[in-house]
Amino acid sequence: MKKVLVTGGAGYIGSACSEYLLDRGYDVTVFDALITGHRDAVDPRAKLVEGNLADRPLIIDVCRRGQFDAVMHFAAFSLVGESMKNPSKYFGNNLANAINLADAAVEGGVKTFVFSSTAATFGQPEKVPISENDRQIPINPYGESKLCFEKVLSWYSRIYGMKYAALRYFNAAGATVLHGEDHRPESHLIPIILETVRGKREKLMLFGDDYDTPDGSCIRDYIHILDLAQAHELALAAPESGHYNLGTGNGLSVFEIIRAAEEVTGKKVNFEIAPRRPGDPARLIACSDKARSALGWKPKYESALDIIESAWKWQLKFPEGYAK
Ligand code: UDP
Repeated sequence: MKKVLVTGGAGYIGSACSEYLLDRGYDVTVFDALITGHRDAVDPRAKLVEGNLADRPLIIDVCRRGQFDAVMHFAAFSLVGESMKNPSKYFGNNLANAINLADAAVEGGVKTFVFSSTAATFGQPEKVPISENDRQIPINPYGESKLCFEKVLSWYSRIYGMKYAALRYFNAAGATVLHGEDHRPESHLIPIILETVRGKREKLMLFGDDYDTPDGSCIRDYIHILDLAQAHELALAAPESGHYNLGTGNGLSVFEIIRAAEEVTGKKVNFEIAPRRPGDPARLIACSDKARSALGWKPKYESALDIIESAWKWQLKFPEGYAK
């Protein structure tokens, strides 16, 4: 049985990925500071170490004792706007603390490191769909902190022989039966739309309808968290280190997501056009051919309706999100 350390396993994608691994017989230890994560999101079959990656002796000790085959690193801050106001928070956690984890993985003899990277490492893309070799010029500290850590891993792999996969998620979305999106405050499009439908909030502020896109709103590539989880498992078995862009390849505008949510819920979405949100590129769409060919990745949720439906079911089951 493979032993995996999942940092950020109490968060949105980390909790779904832990569930996916546990369902497939992996032994999972979650390491989480429970700052943005939720204790209730930690799968009861996993062991939980409550700790912060800033605590270098602790994470080194956990990795030395754990005899993990792999580390999956989800623990990070992920809000673009916040990173523009507080870059130190992003470079401190997403880079400096992540280096503590990389060192601990080396000390613990971990063979494989799977890293949650992001489309934000590409900044304003020169073209879409974006492939792995396109230029990475981040336009915010969040994307830069993730790109820096991709480079750290590349050097660690050359120097220490630790294999790694940097998985660049496009827009993670959807839910499993048990695990869904519960950010506080919520800033992501699909949960905000669904909260609006439920009357939990009055309306969606639609950030910009004057982009250079067919309907004027931003286009994103929404990918289900279980499809991301599948890529993580496949990355464990990959023979070599690599970078992979993960998305469906279908770009959907904010208006298209609103219409899809109306179809799924049977209700109207109340929204108001608001100014553009700083740092939002007009289009982000992944070319995931490499993940499909090199990893054998096959996303199961190709339709936005299915993705939104899973998120909708989760919100109906957990109307207040995770208990605090
Ligand atoms: N968006 C919006 N209103 C919101 C939240 C998001 O119009 O309250 C738009 C945002 O401008 C972007 C898309 O929805 O074009 C997806 O945003 P989200 O924050 O979900 O993910 P991001 O693309 O920033 O990773």
